[in-house]
Amino acid sequence: MASNGSVQLERTTNLLRETITIMSKLKIPLTPENYHVWYKYNAGDNLELNKTIDDLLENGTEFTSKVNRELHKTHVFQAPEKLLKSSEQDLQKLVATLFEKINGMTKKTQNYSSTLEEYNDVLQSNPDIDTLTNLLTNLIDATDSALESNQAMESMLDSMNEEVDTLRSNLQTLNVEAFTDKLTAVPNRRAFDQRIDELFDSYHNEEQTFSLLLIDIDHFKQFNDTHGHAVGDKVLKYVASVMKGDIKGNDMLARYGGEEFVVLLPSTNYDGAISVGNSLREKISGIKLVDSNDQDKSLGHVTVSIGVAVITSHDDADSITERADKALYLAKEKGRNLVM
Ligand code: GH3
Ligand code: MG
Ligand code: MG
Repeated sequence: MASNGSVQLERTTNLLRETITIMSKLKIPLTPENYHVWYKYNAGDNLELNKTIDDLLENGTEFTSKVNRELHKTHVFQAPEKLLKSSEQDLQKLVATLFEKINGMTKKTQNYSSTLEEYNDVLQSNPDIDTLTNLLTNLIDATDSALESNQAMESMLDSMNEEVDTLRSNLQTLNVEAFTDKLTAVPNRRAFDQRIDELFDSYHNEEQTFSLLLIDIDHFKQFNDTHGHAVGDKVLKYVASVMKGDIKGNDMLARYGGEEFVVLLPSTNYDGAISVGNSLREKISGIKLVDSNDQDKSLGHVTVSIGVAVITSHDDADSITERADKALYLAKEKGRNLVM
């Protein structure tokens, strides 16, 4: 018999499955925000949201990223971290039920073996023909029922396992997407915020120092104006991949926004940070950019200016970033393609 918990669980799993299905049918990207909107839609507990979506579906409106954003903003705004948490909780519930079932299965098998033991005792003491016949019949019944319940358990376990796998990979996608910049595929601002919090923890608990580089592409507006925004996008991607290739270990590169990047350097002092900054700066300025559609067409060079800041005891995430920003401003003022 299904307990309340497992009815609830079944509902959650069905909702998850239906949400993924309808989203892929409507070609809606599986971002945490969209996922939340459509999960709510399927749950049906937000009448206004359902009415809005039903109208859109009826009118055959395409779910463009603008429409999706609007739906989320108007009807279900919630921090994405919270959403990830709630999906993780769904998964945990599923796993808990799975373990419950496995325990149930072991109990059945235990029952069976204790039945066998009992019969063995009886056989030792009362070996007459009636008792033997009786025992044999009961034994066949007990075996059948143990086998049957094991088979049912097995197929149930199989389908639960599949469910867990699907959920796990969906969660992984959600997690990766939530912390990755779409254009450049490097960690995004949210990932940076998380990492700098961790570095502040290590600084306060273990006095582990760290440095921060704020990197801004020089005259990028002009580059876009000359070569077009699409080429600009490709260059941003390329610059990100070059920088990513140049930093190592626990260092982290993230896109801070627009044509700005940030690098976090754990256990790195001022001199170390300046030297990493110069290495990045030289790598980038040394690249001869060419049009990927026409290798003979030169796009010249891009350069970056970099502001460096090292953690001090009065800092928080805002103040250290502000200091790097001031240094960056100075590098721009002094002529660009510089580390300050
Ligand atoms: P500065 O050397 O002072 O940094 O000059 P700048 O032109 O780089 O700075 P500004 O802040 O005036 O302009 C930044 C430009 O970066 C504007 C915008 O066209 C471009 N940009 C920002 N994000 C993107 C993007 O995602 N793709 C493309 N192609 N360009 C972007
Ligand atoms: Mg800028
Ligand atoms: Mg710039």
